[in-house]
Amino acid sequence: MGYAEVSVNSPVAQRRTFSYAIPSGLTIDVGQAVWVPFGDKLLQGIVLELSDYPSVEETREIAGIIDPHPVLSPARVRLARWLSEYYLSPLFEAVALMLPPGFERKTVTFISTPSTTQETDISSLTQGQRDVLRLVHRQGKISLRELEKRLGSKQAKLITSQLVSQGLVVKGYELEKVKVRPKTVSYLRLAVTTSEARQEAASLREKRASRQAALLDFLAQRNEPVPLSEVRQRVGSSASVVKALVSRGLVEVQQIEIKRDPLAYQSMTPSYPLTLTTAQRAALESIKASLLKAPQDNASPSVFLLHGVTGSGKTEIYLQALAEVVKQGKRGIVLVPEIALTPQTIERFASRFPRKVAVLHSKLSLGEQYDEWHRIRDGEFDVVIGSRSAIFAPQPELGLIVIDEEHEWTYKQSDRPRYHTRDVAVKLAELTGTVVVLGSATPDVETFHHAQRGDYHLLQLPERVTPSEGSALPKVEVVDLRDELKAGNRSLFSRSLSQAIAKAVGSGEQVILFLNRRGTATFIQCRRCGFVLRCKRCEVALTYHFAEDMLLCHQCNYRMPVPQICPCCCSQRIKFLGIGTQKLEQEASQAFPQARLLRWDSDVTKGRYSHQEILGKFRTHQADILIGTQMIAKGLDLPRVTLVGVVSADTGLNLPDFRAGERTFQLLCQVAGRAGRGSLGGKVIIQTYSPEHYAIQAAAKYDYASFYTKEINYRRQLRNPPFSRLACLTYSHTNDAVCQREAERMKRLITQEIDSRGIADLSLIGPAPAFIHRLRGRFRWQLILRGSEPSALLSELTIPQGWAVDIDPVGL
Ligand code: ADP
Ligand code: ZN
Ligand code: ZN
Repeated sequence: MGYAEVSVNSPVAQRRTFSYAIPSGLTIDVGQAVWVPFGDKLLQGIVLELSDYPSVEETREIAGIIDPHPVLSPARVRLARWLSEYYLSPLFEAVALMLPPGFERKTVTFISTPSTTQETDISSLTQGQRDVLRLVHRQGKISLRELEKRLGSKQAKLITSQLVSQGLVVKGYELEKVKVRPKTVSYLRLAVTTSEARQEAASLREKRASRQAALLDFLAQRNEPVPLSEVRQRVGSSASVVKALVSRGLVEVQQIEIKRDPLAYQSMTPSYPLTLTTAQRAALESIKASLLKAPQDNASPSVFLLHGVTGSGKTEIYLQALAEVVKQGKRGIVLVPEIALTPQTIERFASRFPRKVAVLHSKLSLGEQYDEWHRIRDGEFDVVIGSRSAIFAPQPELGLIVIDEEHEWTYKQSDRPRYHTRDVAVKLAELTGTVVVLGSATPDVETFHHAQRGDYHLLQLPERVTPSEGSALPKVEVVDLRDELKAGNRSLFSRSLSQAIAKAVGSGEQVILFLNRRGTATFIQCRRCGFVLRCKRCEVALTYHFAEDMLLCHQCNYRMPVPQICPCCCSQRIKFLGIGTQKLEQEASQAFPQARLLRWDSDVTKGRYSHQEILGKFRTHQADILIGTQMIAKGLDLPRVTLVGVVSADTGLNLPDFRAGERTFQLLCQVAGRAGRGSLGGKVIIQTYSPEHYAIQAAAKYDYASFYTKEINYRRQLRNPPFSRLACLTYSHTNDAVCQREAERMKRLITQEIDSRGIADLSLIGPAPAFIHRLRGRFRWQLILRGSEPSALLSELTIPQGWAVDIDPVGL
């Protein structure tokens, strides 16, 4: 007898599998979905491994097969195992990432009459028991849920168990109804030959059944299934006419599945490969050479970092590399940070591979997702495009994974399992022999470090492909806001920015005003000299807490009162708190009354097409100034925009996170790339109180190399990633004091563990209140574990309820 190790869909299963015996007569494969008994329930499970011996003495049998077709390939089974181990997430949650949408269903408990009926004496039964028994007899079976609705939960359970113990009813399990069904449409077709149909029609006419005759003639003429709705429209047949013909076996109703295509709303003209520039050709040749190499066992995967400014032709390389993959009979996955923000990119893929691109949109309906999953698994698409979860698409014969804008935060999943898409992609590539291309104008410092060390191949595109003169990178001007104050200008707009806005709007051009955080800033800055209070131990900006009027370090819990005067220049203008988008909009409308404003931040982008709507409005010049946050930094190509104003670069710079400098550099470069996309050229103005900061200096010159050199040195000095790995543990509770106590307790637990194992390179930072101290009514405290393998230590501990563990967090 064989055995299977099954990942069971139960919260108690955690990170382990369970052994089940394979009943004789059942063929089971790795990756197959099965039913297994678990406690007194029947649950879904996925077979992860087959073996000759069970891992425990007593096993139960697999109860049945859910789907004869394995739902996970062997490589994805191993990927799921890795996800669960590395990110410390329950195994089934990792498996579930790769299952068809709507796969997880609840089991429904029901009671029915036993198959062997015996004489029953119901005289001893209570009235309640009799009622239930009668109901079961009448209906054949009834779900426990329905009984509970009728009798109340307690009574239903009691009566059920009494009847079961007397052998009057038996309990059974069933799956809840499938929530997603492929959408079908009713078609009508002939069940007889066309000549038979014509004969029938003639005789029906004689019998004066002219409507039935007309329908038969219509179907005979079309000689193919016709949608019922069309039949009604064309022939005017009523339901009774159809029914009469169906009952005589002359026609039949057929359910035909219709595909819901998310690209359907876009009209596409095919596009063709461009002749590459020298730099592009060199990059593509390297990738091609890797694609042609047969994957070797245990070889580290081929990962390329394609580093090139916006407009340097990276997308064209993705397209041509994919074409090569397709030529080899393989397929690709393309990941973009956020589907809704990259319609232009999607269009370029769809027009290069017409009808061969699947787009996985987070806002697809469940039905659409269900359709796409099955079509992808059946190999219908050359390319699957989507945001992070598309890495789990069941794309067969995978040859290439592209991650565009690889440095984006959105590639990290914030809920369990808290995976990073880039790391998952590299792992999947290792398991499947796939090539990975990471693209960015401002690569993640950690990715670039890998490339420097030679783990990844570095490909550089140093220049913009400039088809028309004038669309070189726009000039950047950094404005020192301290000088504005000195000159008596207290508005949000420096003199330079004001003039530039007025000039652009006056000549019918467009302006983007950018704030890199929504709402207000949380740090305190001297408006005279730009000084920001930082934690002496952690180097991050201290966060201002209104309620206590205190400054706080969110990494180590250091606290101090707000100083009355600036420690640096003795000015009293120390308590300046930054700007929000609403305030900016107000001031802009006062300062430029003639300009038409449009605000784009997450407050106004909730609906399915609203990104496109806002973008469309701006593109068609229904507004002169677009005000927004992070979102407007992404992939937009707006030729009429000649000016981008960064209203305050400091908000991002002073977030309490060691990556604040990196994020600011990336955002400023991206935002700057929005200006001057057209023939009009462009200009960027960055306003800041810290013009000397290396991130701002480097961004103003689009100088990644000098930014990287500074940044990597800071990382090394403070032992931050990539020179260590982090794990962030967050505890949340409605009571702040309870949180703090639990966090202290956890600290002791982990410290003991580190000591008893004698691990020298692991350190613990905190506990401290999380940056977002209170979220949905719960307080949050955090601990940061730093070392070479924090995940390995944590996997040995039993982490109590209430804790969330984030391995390789991207925001602290
Ligand atoms: P990126 O992805 O780096 O931003 P793109 O691939 O989008 O760059 O290229 C920027 C622009 O230049 C696009 O309009 C693209 O069509 C065009 N382009 C790219 N490569 C070439 C080429 N070899 N010849 C002509 N135009 C090109
Ligand atoms: Zn000062
Ligand atoms: Zn600190």
